[in-house]
Amino acid sequence: MLRLPWFEYRSPRSVAEAVKILAGEGPQAMLVAGGTDLLPNMKRRHQSPKVLVSLRAVDELRKLNGSYGAGLTLAEVVAHPGTPGALRHAAAQVATAQIRNMGTLGGNLCLDTRCTYYNQTEEWRKAIDYCLKKDGSVCWVATASKRCVAVSSTDTAPALIALDAKVTLVGPGGEREIPVESLYNNDGIDYLSRKPDEVLSAIVIPSSWKSVYWKLRRRGSFDFPLLGVAAALKMDGDVVADARIALGAVASRPFRIEKAGEFLKGKRLTDEVIAEAATLVANRAKPMDNTDMDLYWRKEVADDFAGYALKELRGDDMGAIRLRTARYLPG
Ligand SMILES: Cc1cc2nc3c(=O)[nH]c(=O)nc-3n(C[C@H](O)[C@H](O)[C@H](O)COP(=O)(O)OP(=O)(O)OC[C@H]3O[C@@H](n4cnc5c(N)ncnc54)[C@H](O)[C@@H]3O)c2cc1C
Repeated sequence: MLRLPWFEYRSPRSVAEAVKILAGEGPQAMLVAGGTDLLPNMKRRHQSPKVLVSLRAVDELRKLNGSYGAGLTLAEVVAHPGTPGALRHAAAQVATAQIRNMGTLGGNLCLDTRCTYYNQTEEWRKAIDYCLKKDGSVCWVATASKRCVAVSSTDTAPALIALDAKVTLVGPGGEREIPVESLYNNDGIDYLSRKPDEVLSAIVIPSSWKSVYWKLRRRGSFDFPLLGVAAALKMDGDVVADARIALGAVASRPFRIEKAGEFLKGKRLTDEVIAEAATLVANRAKPMDNTDMDLYWRKEVADDFAGYALKELRGDDMGAIRLRTARYLPG
């Protein structure tokens, strides 16, 4: 049985109090929300904070009025009738029902990056002399790499990037609002631009986009994404007025493909236009050999998934393909 290391548990009642504890305790303190990622990670000694600052008693993080409180559970986000399509699809496909009842939107956005050589027990990692992300000096995925290439596996981040959402971060110096895309660095270790004493408090989502999210995973029941494609459109009749497409799970950060968005503007969503936009998306997918399934196939399939997303936004009935791709295996 894997045991948790010892830690002190603090339970602030407000964001201001949580920030104060984080600032006072320094790097030995970490926030915990649902704990569905952090606690298993602590059991494997990926993180060993001396102080855990729980956000569960912070009611202001659970508000849903204009913005989404970071402490809302994924199940609450899915159940809210005003949740835009891409976010609902993404949140509904995170893990299992039990985990979505515990796991929060803020925790999902701040999810640790993942890698075959990292998401293992301490003994396993010790046997390979650890890896660059934690306790070692070599990246076993790309041995010449000075940068950790662990992969961003949050489902909701690409959806929120496509939706042009912003996050609010509260620190000792006050509040700042940044686009969701700017929350991420392309670095498997230092993957967030959030400062260690900042709390992600809310997510603001403009309501004017029609959006979808397509996820590739091995098991239809639950699995981390091997690819996530989020697309959002504003239409002027049958012409695309604005478009945003984002990819997840193919780099250390989720990111937007501006070129594909620009290409779609002013065009009708014909099969040819969709095919060309999908290729622009797939060209930017650079999956590494550090998750499940063949990386060349994962890159190839990005083209298909971007096409599915755009066809669904065009109004095509994609039900059968959604069902099939839930269990998509290389042919
Ligand atoms: C079996 C299994 C399957 C999973 N499948 C998926 C999946 O398919 N897709 C997916 O995206 N995730 C998946 N997860 C990961 C995780 O369950 C979810 O991402 C969940 O949303 C994390 O939220 P949490 O509230 O539990 O985060 P926690 O575990 O509490 O925290 C995660 C990280 O976020 C930080 N944090 C939490 N809240 C805040 C905040 N408000 N401000 C700043 N930092 C904060 C914590 O310090 C920690 O570093 C899976 C987990 C398990 C165990």
